[in-house]
Amino acid sequence: MQNKGTYQAPKGTEDLYGERAQAWELLQQVAARVFSRYGYRPLYTPIFEATELFTRAVGKATEVVNKEMYSFKDRKGRNLTLRPENTAGVVRAAIEQNLLGEGGSAKLYYAGPMFRYEKPQKGRQRQFYQLGAEALGVTLPEADAEMILMLWEYLCELTLPQQHLQLLVNSMGCPQCRPLYRKELAKYLRAHAEELCADCQERIKTNPLRTFDCKRPSCCKVLAGAPKIIDALCPDCAEHQKRVERLLNDAGLIYRIDPTLVRGLDYYTRTVFEVQVVDGMGAQNALGGGGRYDGLFEELGGKSTPSIGFALGFERVMLALEAANIRLPFEKGAQVFVAATEDALREEAFALVRELRDAGLPALCDLQGKSLKAQFKAADRSGAALVVIVGPDELDDGYVRVRDMQSKEERLIERSRAAARLSAELR
Ligand code: AMP
Repeated sequence: MQNKGTYQAPKGTEDLYGERAQAWELLQQVAARVFSRYGYRPLYTPIFEATELFTRAVGKATEVVNKEMYSFKDRKGRNLTLRPENTAGVVRAAIEQNLLGEGGSAKLYYAGPMFRYEKPQKGRQRQFYQLGAEALGVTLPEADAEMILMLWEYLCELTLPQQHLQLLVNSMGCPQCRPLYRKELAKYLRAHAEELCADCQERIKTNPLRTFDCKRPSCCKVLAGAPKIIDALCPDCAEHQKRVERLLNDAGLIYRIDPTLVRGLDYYTRTVFEVQVVDGMGAQNALGGGGRYDGLFEELGGKSTPSIGFALGFERVMLALEAANIRLPFEKGAQVFVAATEDALREEAFALVRELRDAGLPALCDLQGKSLKAQFKAADRSGAALVVIVGPDELDDGYVRVRDMQSKEERLIERSRAAARLSAELR
């Protein structure tokens, strides 16, 4: 039996290796490609921040802050938290580093681990990987439409079939209209309190909109009849929402207005959206989502800076790709393996490997002192298409032998032109 060692990765975390690790790299490369077309630049912020940043930004009466944060004190007694999401960190950095500059706006994206103390299950981990984009200092509905279109384009570029996905859109209103709606909703929920679970009964007092996040059938039934925020928007929010819808329609995007979409964090205003996988992923069907957060900069001590962003989970993207039976197009591994027939020729083999790599070909040679037979086995395992055999007689005549690993055919090529010829053949 395989020795598993003394220590295991903590519950809810995973080691990324093999194709999964390659997938992570690819998901980030595609993001860099797509997002840069929209003018986004990368931003790296710390993995831990002051706890206060998240309680202020995400909201005290949210699941994330109440139950899920990995908070700790450092040796000087400072209260710190492993980031449960990254919008708060991006906004903090934008204020602290003056990232908005004179133009008053910035487009930034990030990818990295987030941490939430949740019950681990398929598509739900305690350390998970999010990719996100934030457009800061943008007021127009065009910014909302552009953000949604960029997320959609990213998913299309990963070749996720559109029929597997659905896009939901809603508006959360603003500080003018939402408080009135909250009151109206709370009144309705109080009238149905005995049909709600204990958590939702509590939410009537603390944060009635959060009841829409509850998955219990009895609560969902009550909420199906609840007043809808989209019907309670003030004229400005309603106009904003209509224009977002028009822009999405003009772009040919298919989406559904979902009046129950409220998302789990308190900072959202106006447009919120989510991309879900239609089936095959159970309850964790949200690939990603986001929304506008027009008040967050001020909440965190900055100037008024209307903004919008989204975040998407890599683990969920992988599940969606699996459900749709899609394999990501990974770069091939080594294409050429150079084998030496005897120890005296290892340096010659090493020189040829360098030449092949200089010519742009992924190439390998043995680094373990293996026999020729074992080198062939290693070449096979590496997936190389060709093995170049460096042997004394051929080399004396100025040649090396090339073996095609698939057809098993062998031929001689000139040593001095080997790298140029093979790179021309294989590319
Ligand atoms: P949120 O920050 O809650 O809006 O989540 C945005 C996206 O991050 C979700 O749609 C998921 O893809 C991903 N996500 C959130 N929490 C987790 C988790 N615990 N495990 C894996 N992915 C997550």
